[in-house]
Amino acid sequence: MATEVDPEAALSEARERGVHLLSIPTPFAVGRVNCYLVEGDPLTLIDAGPRSGDSLEELEKAIGRSGHSVEDLDLIVATHEHIDHIGNIRTVAERSGAQVAALDKAVDRLAKFDRYALSENEMAVQLMVRYGVSAEIANRLRAIAETYRDLGDDVAVDLPLPEGERARFGDLELEVHHRPGHSPSDTIFFEPETGFCFGGDHLLSHISSNPLIARPLDGSPGRTRSLIDYAASLRKTQEMEITLMLSGHGDPITDHVGLIDSYLKAQERRRKKVLKIIEEEPRSAHDVAAAIWGDVAVTQAYLTLSEVVGHADVLQEEGLVTEYERDGVLIFEAV
Ligand SMILES: [Zn+2]
Repeated sequence: MATEVDPEAALSEARERGVHLLSIPTPFAVGRVNCYLVEGDPLTLIDAGPRSGDSLEELEKAIGRSGHSVEDLDLIVATHEHIDHIGNIRTVAERSGAQVAALDKAVDRLAKFDRYALSENEMAVQLMVRYGVSAEIANRLRAIAETYRDLGDDVAVDLPLPEGERARFGDLELEVHHRPGHSPSDTIFFEPETGFCFGGDHLLSHISSNPLIARPLDGSPGRTRSLIDYAASLRKTQEMEITLMLSGHGDPITDHVGLIDSYLKAQERRRKKVLKIIEEEPRSAHDVAAAIWGDVAVTQAYLTLSEVVGHADVLQEEGLVTEYERDGVLIFEAV
């Protein structure tokens, strides 16, 4: 297991390699988003923050502090489809003339991002009602989600990046690895010679990275089995010889093996709790969430529902739980 390294030391190690952290504000509970500037040819920006006047200004200032300007950028990379990471990409690409790179499988989603966000909000309402949230609350949450849609933007990808191939960001040659789970398009970029890695939101040092239910990346109908995907992705990443991972939020990660262990153990504990609650009596996912989180199951209904449904996916796969329908709502029952 890697030894603890203090975040400042890790960031100065990154700076020596020409990588600068740009910490950009967001209106979300997660706080600031970490974008990165990679010096060299092509001068590369990894993620660009949400589309708001504030964050664009801060991005410009942060790029300026590292001795460059937005106009100098040659390449912009998206780590995944969330608006706190991609909202500014189009604006910044237009101003700089930079090319945009992202995972090849995510090209379609990013190109029609706004339409996708709208359809995802619709799916969220349907799923919430299907899993036991009242229509009134589901619609209220949808209205909130709609106000955030403006913070995203369509992104035209010029350089689709295939899994396993190498891409040049600044002076770094990085392998592309798809790691779905937190979102369907999560991608990490890894330099095998040094163990250096850009992780997006795949792993976060201070909070566990929520596997939100989404629409599948290939455009097929239905929803992702995000927790199952996420656990598989975590196991793949755990096998990698990563020495330093720069994440989309919070501090750099120097012990990915231990961190992933703790994620997987926490998932296991939570799954046992979900099973116990379902064993007490058959319940909807929303009622399970309310039993675990109380009022948070209402204010953060989609987040908590994503987690319960994710665990129920695993429990159903293991043959421990089944579901049936009662008045249009799915009810989980222990086998
Ligand atoms: Zn994210």
